[in-house]
Amino acid sequence: MKRAIFPGSFDPITLGHVDIIERGVTLFDELIIAIGVNSGKKYMFSLAERKQFIENCFKGNPKIKVVTYRGLTVDFCMKNNFDFILRGLRNPADFEFEKAIAHTNRDLAPVETVFLLTAASTSYISSSIVRDVIRNDGDYTKLVPKMVRI
Ligand code: ADP
Repeated sequence: MKRAIFPGSFDPITLGHVDIIERGVTLFDELIIAIGVNSGKKYMFSLAERKQFIENCFKGNPKIKVVTYRGLTVDFCMKNNFDFILRGLRNPADFEFEKAIAHTNRDLAPVETVFLLTAASTSYISSSIVRDVIRNDGDYTKLVPKMVRI
């Protein structure tokens, strides 16, 4: 059984993430959306809110699960027998960043990283821009799935 995790902060989940998840799930038997908990990071949405938003988006799909984890992504993969890490690439900056992480992960554990190019229509979206729009009372609804409402 091919199982992959899609790790991230999802603060909050955006239409860009949804695109990667919907396309990624066709490649694997199971896709686990894994919200990484980093105690040094400040989030706009609580862990419970971020998890709830994602669960509401995909509750009809038995191939998609949502979990939270602490520590290294590869350690989490090894403990749970996940063979693949799914990541999205928006632009050259993402590529350089992701390349270093993927090489490091391969040094640490036999887990393959699979990249999907983002859809052109959502490649400009990032959670940090969404948070900025929200903080400044802008219309964030075009950038996130319907389940994300404040
Ligand atoms: P992280 O804190 O690990 O960067 P994010 O939640 O920002 O977590 O992103 C998780 C994954 O989603 C990453 O692989 C990232 O490249 C991808 N991603 C983020 N925004 C988009 C987008 N607009 N389109 C497609 N993939 C995206």
